[in-house]
Amino acid sequence: MALTLAPRTKLVAATHNPGKVRELFALLEGRFEVVSAGMLGLAEPDETELSFVGNALLKARHAANASGLIALSDDSGLSVTALDGAPGIYSARWAGPDKDFGQAMTKLEQRLIETGDDNRHAWFTCALAVAWPNGPAVVFEGRIDGTLSFPPKGARGFGYDPIFTPHGHDVTFGEMDPDFKHAISHRALAFEQLKAALF
Ligand code: IMP
Repeated sequence: MALTLAPRTKLVAATHNPGKVRELFALLEGRFEVVSAGMLGLAEPDETELSFVGNALLKARHAANASGLIALSDDSGLSVTALDGAPGIYSARWAGPDKDFGQAMTKLEQRLIETGDDNRHAWFTCALAVAWPNGPAVVFEGRIDGTLSFPPKGARGFGYDPIFTPHGHDVTFGEMDPDFKHAISHRALAFEQLKAALF
């Protein structure tokens, strides 16, 4: 059986993160009827896998099986070369229970200073998974490379956006027009693959 997502299908966006809900809705808007896991009151599963792909599949399967709807999930994060890929899959957890990304960016800057390494290369990864209720699941991965800079700049994005300038650009994701970020981001790159495979 070929897996496809027909127009106007009702989908659940398997995330409780308001920044991601906004970005996933922006990607899917118009084509599907979308509700979020938060809106349906679904529980948030523990992210027990050790890769973006593993956690994206886990979240999509959990939301699909709990809701009976086809689910789309996003697992993503920032990986820093001088920190051997940290925070990586722990990007959200570095912000603590209060999801304080100001604190997470300060921690990241301090860790970087402690290494004595002046390499500021980093990349965002996004794994997007689609799962059918009690059925198959597929996953796609996108990545964007860039440079970190401190102090954080711009309040237009979320998470680590204010410290990340993608290669080939001269403003951070936090300063960028959101529509422009959505067109070039790790999430957009993963979504291009998803579209090519399933639409
Ligand atoms: P999770 O995928 O929900 O475990 O969380 C991923 C975390 O990575 C988010 O909470 C953000 O901190 C960070 N992240 C992922 N994508 C982006 C992005 O596009 N901009 C900024 N931060 C991001």
